[in-house]
Amino acid sequence: MNHLFLPELFTQKTIEAMNLAMTTEPGVLLNMVNLTYIVAAILFIFGLKLLGSARTAPRGNMISATGMLLAVGITLLDQQILSYTVLAIGVFLGATIGAVAAYKVRMTGMPEMVALFNGFGGMASLLVGWSEWHFLAGLPIAAMSQPLPFSQSVIALAVLIGGITFTGSLMAFLKLSGRISGRAVVFPGQKLINLAVATVIVGAMVAYVFIGQTGAAYPVFIGLLLLALTLGILGVLPIGGGDMPVVIALLNSLSGLAAAAAGFAIVNTVLIVAGCLVGASGLILTVIMCKAMNRSLGNVLFSGFGSAANSGPKGAVQGEMKPISCQDLYYVLESANRVVFIPGYGMAVAQAQHLVRELGEILEQNGTEICYAIHPVAGRMPGHMNVLLAEADVPYDQLQELAPINAAMEQTDVAVVIGANDVVNPAASDDPASPIYGMPIINAHKAKTVICLKRGQGAGFSGLKNELFFRENTRMYYGDAKSSIQNLVSEFKET
Ligand code: NDP
Repeated sequence: MNHLFLPELFTQKTIEAMNLAMTTEPGVLLNMVNLTYIVAAILFIFGLKLLGSARTAPRGNMISATGMLLAVGITLLDQQILSYTVLAIGVFLGATIGAVAAYKVRMTGMPEMVALFNGFGGMASLLVGWSEWHFLAGLPIAAMSQPLPFSQSVIALAVLIGGITFTGSLMAFLKLSGRISGRAVVFPGQKLINLAVATVIVGAMVAYVFIGQTGAAYPVFIGLLLLALTLGILGVLPIGGGDMPVVIALLNSLSGLAAAAAGFAIVNTVLIVAGCLVGASGLILTVIMCKAMNRSLGNVLFSGFGSAANSGPKGAVQGEMKPISCQDLYYVLESANRVVFIPGYGMAVAQAQHLVRELGEILEQNGTEICYAIHPVAGRMPGHMNVLLAEADVPYDQLQELAPINAAMEQTDVAVVIGANDVVNPAASDDPASPIYGMPIINAHKAKTVICLKRGQGAGFSGLKNELFFRENTRMYYGDAKSSIQNLVSEFKET
């Protein structure tokens, strides 16, 4: 959105003033550029800090975007790369497409959109690296601003990491959006093939630097580019849809590293700073998500979790699911002293958060103590439930994390599971043979009564059956979560 202000920056007067500064006082302009880059970097860091909470995140976004606007603006004034008309058209088109996409995307489609954006970031770094190849090829050594082997190395890294990020992100997008199967695709010798491709890539990078910036190096360079694109596809192929959010966070980190490499290639400080910040924060997010699932990054990337051979119900689940009617559920909730809502992906799909908050308020007026249990990987992106509940104006102090909520679960009369499945699957703590064994869960099964809202007998995202639904103290309240809660709210209002 901020990019829409760019044409204003380029009024004829401003351009003339800057051109004058460029011709008369190059030192002053350089200082101004560097000073603006420092301000931009401070705004990035401050914005990132504010992204740590749902309440301050919109402000953080605006502050970081303003930093980027400043950085892009001053760079364009400093170096007249293209005509301002062409740039303005590009900015207008990009901003329009971005604004429409962000406006139209559903909350549940956000990870797919982030995957696409990461991919485009990777592609941009690849293109910068590629164009820098041509720029360097026509430049005498004496005119180069940094040693040639260093330039070649960072160009190769920008192309390599950018290429992997581009195709890897496209694969993640296709899997998450259901355009191709979300299953992990594994076949014999797969790891060996990936290792061979990675080895050839390292060889091609070394060869490119040794041959030098000559015509003979170009086929090697193009080979490196194509292999990077191939490795992105091969790397994401054996990862199941359930692990895609982790992969997206990792690809986000890679897109930052690719941008930093591109920044070194074209000697642009702010690109290096922004790239490193994205690289580091993406990596931290990846680690947090892996911890929340109690899995290592290696396990996510290489175990084939979610492949045909690796998924499906493990161990026979005994018993039957027992349904409960709306009226009976009304009596259960009406007499409860303490109720915990456990939202999951299904609440996001149904967009039931506003009605859940309304039901919570009704229960509170009835004298019931209520709170919301937040699992860090409930839904399809980190913080998914926090965002939805904040949007519905649920008070922050009613949201509780895993440790405190589990400690109080045995004193809970009713745990209401709203479209959550994997994050309340007791197999994660009880069944060592389960693929999700070890993943921290919300111990809904320890509440005196468990009510599960879902549409049917569908499995969770991992594809595993959930024994919670078959337990003695569990009742199933079938239907779309939004209409189910609506009926319950009406029951309370009418009775
Ligand atoms: P799950 O995907 O495990 O289960 C969602 C449940 O919601 C399904 O059982 C489905 O059952 C039900 N549902 C779907 N639509 C509706 C609806 N309209 N109304 C009512 N119920 C509905 O969700 P969880 O949140 O429990 O778990 C998240 C999963 O995603 C975990 O496996 C986690 O590891 C994974 N993941 C999440 C990440 C994140 O960052 N959040 C990152 C990486 C992985 P039915 O079809 O019968 O209605």
